[in-house]
Amino acid sequence: MKKHNFNAGPSILPREVIENTAQAILDFNGSGLSIMEISHRAKDFQPVVDEAEALFKELLNIPEGYSVLFLGGGASLEFCMVPYNFLEKKAAYLNTGVWAKKAMKEAKGFGEVVEVVSSAEANYTYIPKDYSMPADVDYFHITTNNTIYGTELKTDPDVNVPMVADMSSDIFSRPIDVSRYICIYGGAQKNLAPAGVTFVIVKNDALGKVSRYIPSMLNYQTHVDNGSMFNTPPVVPIYAALQTLRWIKANGGVAEMEKRAIEKADMLYGEIDRNKMFVGTAVKEDRSRMNICFIMAPEYKELEADFMKFATEKGMVGIKGHRSVGGFRASCYNALPKESVQALIDCMQEFEKLH
Ligand SMILES: *Cc1c(COP(=O)(O)O)cnc(C)c1O
Repeated sequence: MKKHNFNAGPSILPREVIENTAQAILDFNGSGLSIMEISHRAKDFQPVVDEAEALFKELLNIPEGYSVLFLGGGASLEFCMVPYNFLEKKAAYLNTGVWAKKAMKEAKGFGEVVEVVSSAEANYTYIPKDYSMPADVDYFHITTNNTIYGTELKTDPDVNVPMVADMSSDIFSRPIDVSRYICIYGGAQKNLAPAGVTFVIVKNDALGKVSRYIPSMLNYQTHVDNGSMFNTPPVVPIYAALQTLRWIKANGGVAEMEKRAIEKADMLYGEIDRNKMFVGTAVKEDRSRMNICFIMAPEYKELEADFMKFATEKGMVGIKGHRSVGGFRASCYNALPKESVQALIDCMQEFEKLH
């Protein structure tokens, strides 16, 4: 039976990304060796990093003066690297959920952290928009897509301070104005590659402004100076990321990814709103295109496990909601075909007919 992969992360990748990576694991570039058993400094591997970096810049329209890094540690290590490198006195954070809170927690070890506003009181079902920004902060940190709660900032906020963004789960799903940010980072395992590589887009002239000592591995400058090769980078995930970047380009780039994301999200939210058995959890205007969260309507609450079983039997994978929201979460990343969204909608409609 065909599986429809709605996993939140690690998550679906384009089939050709998996096939090309599998091929390179068996025989990299016809060398007779696996990509897993060659030096990251081999002359064959450097072009992989170079092309991945060039495609990042091209696809996201990254201006001059920025570096793209491929590191280890996940987005979670960036929660501490960001304040290590940029927080001298004070930073502002938008608290939109678990990941934002974890980022704030790390920053508190480095300076004053201002939570400009939070939607915690409503279990993070919306993106708060009413806040004032202290003028003297070193940066304003946002989480553009809240993977757990299914809310998303679909446009770049307009503030007068430099921004830092965790874009782990919506990178390459819409065009962004990189010039508004000094740093954009994310774990690759949601929309780009298998787990193991972290992407960081950093503005070069924003570095070197804090007075503390920064350990080499945690200093962005180290990785800028060494082209992500200060130590052994995650070679296989970088190779897979390159395949995804090529796939995005061949499929019309980020503008086309956004168009598809809107189409898929409109289809599924349309069904959630139409179907009497389900309700969406996020406030409509802040609904994420990447992680679509919904629960049973109160009068059908006891059918939650039944629907889960019904959908699983029809090939749906990974639709269980995060424990802090409950219900269901259908992650609709770039690689998820429209047919999978339609298959889930068909399930919801058939289930409605049965009841
Ligand atoms: C998954 C996720 C993280 C955590 O990423 P790791 O790479 O596992 O550290 C952080 N932020 C967001 C928005 C995420 O979706």
